[in-house]
Amino acid sequence: MNTSSDEKRAGKKEASDDITPQAVDDAGANDADASDIADAATSRFASGGSSASDNLQQASGLDGKQHTGISRSISRRALIYGTAGIAALFALGGGLRLTFGAVVPLRPPGGQNEAEFAARCIKCDRCRSACHLGAIGVASVNNGLLNARTPTMQFRRGYCDFCAGVPDHRAVDGTDPGLLCVANCPTGALMPFDKAAEWIAPAVIDAEECVAFKTRGACGICADRCPFEAISLDTNLRPVVNEDKCNGCGYCEFICPSNSYRSYSGSNRRGVNVERREGRRP
Ligand code: SF4
Ligand code: SF4
Ligand code: SF4
Repeated sequence: MNTSSDEKRAGKKEASDDITPQAVDDAGANDADASDIADAATSRFASGGSSASDNLQQASGLDGKQHTGISRSISRRALIYGTAGIAALFALGGGLRLTFGAVVPLRPPGGQNEAEFAARCIKCDRCRSACHLGAIGVASVNNGLLNARTPTMQFRRGYCDFCAGVPDHRAVDGTDPGLLCVANCPTGALMPFDKAAEWIAPAVIDAEECVAFKTRGACGICADRCPFEAISLDTNLRPVVNEDKCNGCGYCEFICPSNSYRSYSGSNRRGVNVERREGRRP
């Protein structure tokens, strides 16, 4: 038993008269056992003697050199498996989808050439701020990591009137500034856009969601109100899009009531949706 154990035991005796001498002796003995074990372990560690890990090592029959070899081979194996996993993920399209997204976002007018747009857009948000109808939103990571926070049309919240409805739509020198999203883009990611010859993307009727396909002519709002007369009704009173006239303004998608009429379907789509397609109008 060492001095510090004696001191501890003396301290405990002073601390309480209720504690019996026998109990204190027992406690002191326990302290002594614990500190003796700690001392023994410390001295063994300091002298480089055998320790628990030494015993384990001996029992397993492995020395330090062999351990290093195993960790090296595990690291190498992990690296090979990791690389193979990533390659397989990309092969299956998972990595590409994660990076670029499964669906390329619908760009504002003038951003339809995706390669040029992606090379120039700096995600500054100026086009979105400039839109007076709130038709421009931002893409999320669901559109791919590289597309996150790039501008995208959101025709559930607004539509594009090509800035025709902007009050006092004249620059101070009296000239027409054109489309405000394009005019405010500092890098040329959004190029000049001709709504008579180009499209943001074409409107596409979804027969599964359109009310007119489920009933006989209960709805024809899109045909009535398309600002460019690009939708008509066929002989069954179902809407048909004329792609020669549609410029993708999104007004039909904005006003389509299918989600309200057919809310029980739980679909995220509408009876008409503007869907991305590369290239100019036909
Ligand atoms: S052209 Fe005008 S209305 Fe259309 S998205 Fe650009 S800013 Fe908005
Ligand atoms: S069909 Fe829809 S997207 Fe196309 S011009 Fe008419 S309202 Fe706009
Ligand atoms: S507004 Fe929508 S539901 Fe109505 S006819 Fe057009 S696409 Fe169909």
